[in-house]
Amino acid sequence: MIRALLSRGEIAVVGLGRSGTAVAKLLLREGATVYASDEKTGGHDLERIGRAVLVVASPGVPPNAPALVVARVNGVPIVSEVAVAIAFLPQTRLIAVTGTNGKTTVTALIDHLLRSLGVPTQAAGNIGTPLSDVALLDDPPAWIALELSSYQLHDTPGLRPAVGVLTNLAPDHLDRYATLEDYYADKMLLFANAADSSIWVTNADDAEVQRRTVGIRGTQLRFSVRTANADAAFDPATGAVTLYGTRWMDRENIPLLGDHNVANVLAAALAVTGSSSEHRTPDALHRLLEGVRTFTAMPHRMQVVADIAGVQWINDSKATNVSSTRVAIEGMTRPAIVLLGGRHKGEAYSGLIEPLRRHAKLVIAFGEAESLIAADLGAAVPLECAGSSFTDVIARARAAVRPGDVVLLSPACSSFDMFTNYEERGATFGRLANAT
Ligand code: ADP
Repeated sequence: MIRALLSRGEIAVVGLGRSGTAVAKLLLREGATVYASDEKTGGHDLERIGRAVLVVASPGVPPNAPALVVARVNGVPIVSEVAVAIAFLPQTRLIAVTGTNGKTTVTALIDHLLRSLGVPTQAAGNIGTPLSDVALLDDPPAWIALELSSYQLHDTPGLRPAVGVLTNLAPDHLDRYATLEDYYADKMLLFANAADSSIWVTNADDAEVQRRTVGIRGTQLRFSVRTANADAAFDPATGAVTLYGTRWMDRENIPLLGDHNVANVLAAALAVTGSSSEHRTPDALHRLLEGVRTFTAMPHRMQVVADIAGVQWINDSKATNVSSTRVAIEGMTRPAIVLLGGRHKGEAYSGLIEPLRRHAKLVIAFGEAESLIAADLGAAVPLECAGSSFTDVIARARAAVRPGDVVLLSPACSSFDMFTNYEERGATFGRLANAT
């Protein structure tokens, strides 16, 4: 559909971030006439957008932005940058990854594991490199590990991955979606073109995922960190990790904190071994084990950034919803001082009470959400409010910490009240933790 539209008129690219710029370049290379616009650089010519034959929307542009409303009113199809790039990557096989949490980690793991097999691959999409940049290469790789957000899925109707991974489903983005059902419905678009040849990797421990994937066409591979009855399974009692019923490795080979990261490894292992029979020979499984051992924690995701005077400082700044913070707290093996706060996204914090009672000696609430957090948690766990200076937050943590403790930044909120993004929040935490 996209290729056919190329010669019919102008294509409007709305939003010139990294992916918008890349897709505009790709369309120009393919001979299209392109009108690219951005709010920050002169705004959008709405009349011109309304006359376009196709609108390519950046993930950052909300659906109710005037540029997209005018497209819809005029019946102009709206697609994502990913949808365009896919149209120009006919030879490449996609392993698409979505879910509420763990997308980036699983995508990076799949890419790393494919490399450990010597397979040409690239990680792309929401993880950082726009898919259009890969499509612009003279010689694109045979495989792509593609991270997809719910927004990208919404506008990628032709998606037909060789393998699709759904990590989990939990409330998030209630600030942008009208209902939770709308958000889950976008995630489920991963399966929109399911065929008998499709391979799906799903989370056996997630009831919402299992309920929604019953009867979907194709082969389903399931992972679990709770039951041995899954294609990839972890037994917390013995530390054994099995693949297709055979012992593959021990937990200690996975250099990542928290059982959720074991789940991420299982999901990636199923995606890679499920993608081709050549990727699951005994020799391949051995190389994949080496791949797991050499994978390092990604920045801002359960990353130990300091270990000073018996105190470990863990940067989990990417945990911007309650479910990701919950698994981070559950992964603690030492008494924890937990830093929670930032900009509220709509979820209640009471879901954290149970793991906090087991693992936290103190919660330090901060930022715009501090009074909401205090209201939800203050009666259940020891809690202090530290205001909106991150230096003060760290000073409070220092005052409370004792050798043997952990300071965990896993804020369950977005960073935009005090920082440009979660990366800046995590980097500030790392710098202050190391400033003795
Ligand atoms: P995403 O790309 O979906 O945001 P990331 O891999 O960047 O996921 O991880 C985001 C946050 O979610 C991290 O803080 C991490 O601790 C937490 N997380 C990672 N994997 C999982 C998982 N499988 N289940 C729940 N939370 C997870």
